[in-house]
Amino acid sequence: MRLPEAGSTKDEILDRLAAKRASDVRWQEGRTFGMIYDAGPEADEVLQAVAAMFLHDNALNTLAFPSLGEIQSEVVGITADLLHGTEAAGFITSGGTESILMAVKAARERGRAERGVTRPEMVLPVSAHAAFHKAAHYFGITVRKIPVDADWRADVEAAAAAISDDTVLVVGSAPQYPQGVVDPIPELAALAAAAGANFHTDACMGGFVLPFMERLGHPVPPWDFRVDGVTSISADIHKLGYAPKGASVVLHRDKSLRRFQTFVFDDWLGGFYASPNMQGTRAGLPMACAWAILHHLGLEGYLRLTEATIEARQLLVEGVMAQPGLRVLGEPQAHLVAISADPGAEPTLDIFAVGDVLLARGWFHDRQTPPDSLHATVSAGNRPVIGDYLRDLAESVAEVGGGRVEDRSTSYSTLE
Ligand SMILES: *Cc1c(COP(=O)(O)O)cnc(C)c1O
Repeated sequence: MRLPEAGSTKDEILDRLAAKRASDVRWQEGRTFGMIYDAGPEADEVLQAVAAMFLHDNALNTLAFPSLGEIQSEVVGITADLLHGTEAAGFITSGGTESILMAVKAARERGRAERGVTRPEMVLPVSAHAAFHKAAHYFGITVRKIPVDADWRADVEAAAAAISDDTVLVVGSAPQYPQGVVDPIPELAALAAAAGANFHTDACMGGFVLPFMERLGHPVPPWDFRVDGVTSISADIHKLGYAPKGASVVLHRDKSLRRFQTFVFDDWLGGFYASPNMQGTRAGLPMACAWAILHHLGLEGYLRLTEATIEARQLLVEGVMAQPGLRVLGEPQAHLVAISADPGAEPTLDIFAVGDVLLARGWFHDRQTPPDSLHATVSAGNRPVIGDYLRDLAESVAEVGGGRVEDRSTSYSTLE
C-alpha cells in the first residue's frame, strides 16, 4: 500500500474504518471475555470527552505539561493507597508488560548495586505471565522456572530450591492469568527477602479487583504491600480499572527501591535526559483517561462493578460445572476462569471445538494450553449476558459431541 495522493474527508475516513471493524469482536454486547472492559455508557461518555481533550498531550516532559505530572502522581497515589503501600512510589506505564519490564529491570539493578550480581536470575512459576520471559530476554536474565501445585499455585518448596546467590527477583501473581488463582505470596516473598532479592506481585489483573473484593467481604489471600518482602507490584488500570488501553501502574515499596527503575543520562548534545519507563514520548491521553475513570467511578463505582464481575464469575463457574463434559480448572479466586473438558467424561470433549462454535455465535475466548482450555477474563460488562452464554455453551457442547478440530494453535497475541 502507498500513501494516497489525495487526502480523504472525515466522513470517508470514518466509513472506511467502520468497514474494517466489521469482523471485530462484538464487545459492546458483553460477548468478549477479555481484552475489553466496559464500565457502561455513562463512563464511556466521560472517557470519550477526556480522550478528545488530551488527544495530543505528551508526558515526555512534564515541565511542558504539569497537568500530566499531577495526573501521574495522583493516579499512582490512589493505586498505592488501594494496595496499602504507605511509602510506595511508582509511575504510570503503557500497560502490564511495561510495568513488568520495569520491575524486572529494577530488580536487576538492585542486585548489581547491593550484592554485586553480574549473572542475574529470576524465579518464575510456570503460570507467571509471558511478559516476564520477555523481560528476561530483553535484559539478559536467566529464568529458573518452578512448577505449580495441583491447585495451580506456585510450588513454594520448588521456589526455595531454585533460589541462588544470583537470584535478583522472585515472582508471584494475584491472581495468575491462566487459572485465576492467587499464588502463596507471603511464603514466596519471605524466601526472596531472605535472599536479599526483590519480590514482585503481578497484580496486573487483580490490582483493581482484589481491593474491592476485600471490601465486599469476599475471601482474598494476602498479596499486597501488607505482605513483608513484597518490593514491587504491577496493577493495570486498562483491565479491571476500566480505563481505555495504555495505562498500568508499577509501584515500588519505597522511593529507594524505585530509583533502580529510572534512567538518567547527562552526556548528550540534547541536554539532560531522564525517563522513568521504556517510552520516550509518552501519550497523555491514556494517563488522563486513567485519572478520569478512577474519579468518575470512585470507590462506590468500583464496588458496584466488582460485585457484578464476581456475580458473573460465580454464575459462569456454576454453569460450567453443571454442564456434563466440562469443568473449571482449579478454584478461580477473582474474575479469571479456565474452562476445559472433563477428562473423565465419555466421549472426551474437544474444548477448542466448543470454542469455535461459540465464536461462530459471537462469543470470544482466548485458547490456552497446557492443558487445552478456554480462558475467560470476566468483567462487569459480561454480567447481563451470562445466562445467554451458558445456553449457547450447552448447545455448543451438544453440537460438538465427539468431534475434533484440526487447528490446535493457541495465540494469546499476534505478531502482525
Ligand atoms: C494482562 C496481564 C499482563 C500483561 O499486561 P499487558 O497489559 O497485556 O501488557 C501481565 N500479567 C497478568 C497477570 C496479566 O493478566
